[in-house]
Amino acid sequence: HPLAQIGVTGLAVMGRNLARNLARHGYAVAVHNRSSARTHALVAECGDEGTFIPADTLADFVASLSRPRAVIVMVQAGAATDAVIDELVPLLDADDVVVDCGNAHYADTRRREQRLRTHGLHFVGCGVSGGEEGALHGPSIMPGGSVESYARLGPILSAIAARVDGEPCVTHAGPDGAGHFVKMVHNGIEYADMQLIAEAYELLREGLWASPRQIAEIFRRWNTGPLESFLIEITADVLEHMDTATGRPFVDIVADVAEQKGTGRWTVQSALDLGVPVTGIAEATFARALSGSVVARRAAAETFAHAGGNFALTVPDTEAFVEDVRRALYASKIVAYAQGFDQIAAGSEEHGWKIDRGAVAGIWRGGCIIRARFLDRIRAAYAVDPALPTMLVDPYFAGAVTDGVASWRRIVAEAAQAGVPVPAFASSLAYYDGLRRDRLPAALVQGMRDHFGAHTYRRVDRPGSFHTRWSGDR
Ligand code: NAP
Repeated sequence: HPLAQIGVTGLAVMGRNLARNLARHGYAVAVHNRSSARTHALVAECGDEGTFIPADTLADFVASLSRPRAVIVMVQAGAATDAVIDELVPLLDADDVVVDCGNAHYADTRRREQRLRTHGLHFVGCGVSGGEEGALHGPSIMPGGSVESYARLGPILSAIAARVDGEPCVTHAGPDGAGHFVKMVHNGIEYADMQLIAEAYELLREGLWASPRQIAEIFRRWNTGPLESFLIEITADVLEHMDTATGRPFVDIVADVAEQKGTGRWTVQSALDLGVPVTGIAEATFARALSGSVVARRAAAETFAHAGGNFALTVPDTEAFVEDVRRALYASKIVAYAQGFDQIAAGSEEHGWKIDRGAVAGIWRGGCIIRARFLDRIRAAYAVDPALPTMLVDPYFAGAVTDGVASWRRIVAEAAQAGVPVPAFASSLAYYDGLRRDRLPAALVQGMRDHFGAHTYRRVDRPGSFHTRWSGDR
């Protein structure tokens, strides 16, 4: 029996397609799944795509791998991943590499990496984005772990990753949890991007009284400019789609409750711990929660039915309005991405990961859900200045935001007047204004903190820490 160069355990949609991708690139792939039916189905249905070495038990699976071994674990995140690792560890030898390609929380990855290191094993927490299509045809891959493990895995991951301009969408994010952290922020940005697109759609629908199909045309047009991205492209597809059962636009027959698997929430929780204002991601996550507050929504809809704010925007000039929405969307999107990259910088600093933000932008250009033309610009910005204090001050982005700011203000103001909720547009604008302002009312907050809690404050005119004796002053 020839030995496999790499193994995949966990053969649901993601693992199965990753194994096929590896086999199609000429690797002999050991395959295993807890219930063998999936293993046999893979070999029966895709056996002609390359070399698969199936195993019914984890012990046989490990025995079929050449050493030092490389094992990809692609099972449900959480307890299942721990269960598989527990079973694997006693079967492995020093220097073997375990790669968790599931959607693990980066803190779990840090814990697992530490534990496997005590056994002389390398543990790689590897973010994979692109869904099942990406897994098969080329995902964006975000591995974290030791330098040695990446030296071994890099060529394999490069072979199966998406490619943009000939470059594979994979980079060594950094040690232990860095890869899963980057994947988490990717998903958070995905939440923000989707919410912004949804708000743009809502504005167009309310402002133009246009059909979803007509709005799809607008998104198609936008997709030929700087907004060009996978999410804009599929937005047009979704808006164009008609429900066959009713003949109505698909978007009108879908329940307006956005669900989540939790990576947006993780991103916001981490941002709170790090003290990074990721307002776009947070608003997007809360907007999903609001959409799910069905009982409160119904009660409020009844109570405030006649409370003013009639959801009708004033649109004297259709073309100008569409252009305003486009510019507001682009400016808000730039803010959301800037905040995400700030979070990567803060996480990297906190954990000593030394994450290269330019490289991250580079590998998000292809394969993943947020793939977009403008990530080239982000990569370029960090190439010029790896320590950029915020993406917003890079000349290209500063120009784009400055060009869009009048549109942005008109849109947010008109939406507020008409009662159309645009939380992500509005908070992105507030973030921009907050960031660029020379004095913030935070000075007053400091005064109150010193008043009620003697928390002290610093002064603008001399160094040191001060406290005012408030009661004595009264
Ligand atoms: P999944 O539905 O998340 O997980 C099913 C797989 O996990 C099956 O192979 C199942 O084995 C195995 N499993 C569950 N509990 C187990 C246990 N206690 N011991 C051993 N195996 C166990 O599968 P998926 O959708 O393919 O996703 C796999 C991973 O990739 C997840 O971590 C997911 O978050 C991540 N991911 C998914 C996507 C996506 O688009 N779906 C994208 C990126 C990342 P059985 O067949 O025996 O039940």
